[in-house]
Amino acid sequence: MTFQNSSRLYAAVSSLLWPAIFCTGLTGAYFAFQSHMPLLWFNVVYLSIVATIALFERLMPYEETWLERDGETFSNVAHTLLSKGSVQIAAAIGTSFPMAVATVAQPFLSHQAHIWPEQWPMALQVVLGLVIAEFGLYVAHRLAHEYLSLWRFHALHHSVERLWVINTGRFHIIDSLFKIALGQIPLYLLGAPLPVFLWIGAVTAFIGLLTHCNIDVRTGPLDWFLSTPRLHRWHHSKLLAEGNTNYGENLVIWDQVLGTYYNPPRPSSTDIGISGKVAKGFLAQLVQPFSSKGRKQIIGKKPKELLAKEEQAARAASARKQASEPIRKTS
Ligand SMILES: [Zn+2]
Ligand SMILES: [Zn+2]
Repeated sequence: MTFQNSSRLYAAVSSLLWPAIFCTGLTGAYFAFQSHMPLLWFNVVYLSIVATIALFERLMPYEETWLERDGETFSNVAHTLLSKGSVQIAAAIGTSFPMAVATVAQPFLSHQAHIWPEQWPMALQVVLGLVIAEFGLYVAHRLAHEYLSLWRFHALHHSVERLWVINTGRFHIIDSLFKIALGQIPLYLLGAPLPVFLWIGAVTAFIGLLTHCNIDVRTGPLDWFLSTPRLHRWHHSKLLAEGNTNYGENLVIWDQVLGTYYNPPRPSSTDIGISGKVAKGFLAQLVQPFSSKGRKQIIGKKPKELLAKEEQAARAASARKQASEPIRKTS
């Protein structure tokens, strides 16, 4: 069953759904973090949001063909559990890890303990943390697209030909750890407290689910500063000129600042995927990037050819930036 696309109800739901699901998730996270078992209750909230998004994907899909099975559901869930498990173990030992990092870094950062503004309201600390973490996430993501040694891991995420809530966590574990390291280490070094990490984790979890959802949401001005499904569909485009854009995980502030923001005034791409070939099956996907045969399969084309295309994409991005036509559009 789908709503009538032209109905007022459809338009209202389409415009309100993204903020409604995001705020519901954050409210659930708030109560989870107040409880005696924060990780357990956070997982309950997370799974409830997954179920809600999956329901709306059936009711109002952005692309109907993406509802069809592609045989990758088990792999997607397995990669999610592996990556999410690592993050949660890191959160569980988070109280001791900052101390370990600080001990190592102390000689280099002698004022480390006084840098983070712990006197600020928690909401402001989380916003600050998101902006700082986003820079590391942006760099990690952009490097993963621009260097073949990292693309061989990140290609797994882009190898799907449909977007839906279940492939949100389809990341190779090496790709995830690289991204987490660049996103979190600056915060550890600045002395951010554990609640800031937990809230950033919550925001990232819900934005990630929403970013990959196959729901016809209208995100309007949110596209200017948050990573939305509309922006992220461009990022998954098969065309390098479209795909090597919108690297932001939660915020697109660094895309805006560094010239990789892309949001032309037309429906975002549904032709997604990569030119290379990623193995079928969870274990085969985990080991594929480590063999030379696997790397060649993933890259799909000779490195020089790919690099030439990437240079072409960079030139196209630069030309777009200089063009006079407005590239921002509310959807
Ligand atoms: Zn990517
Ligand atoms: Zn993605």
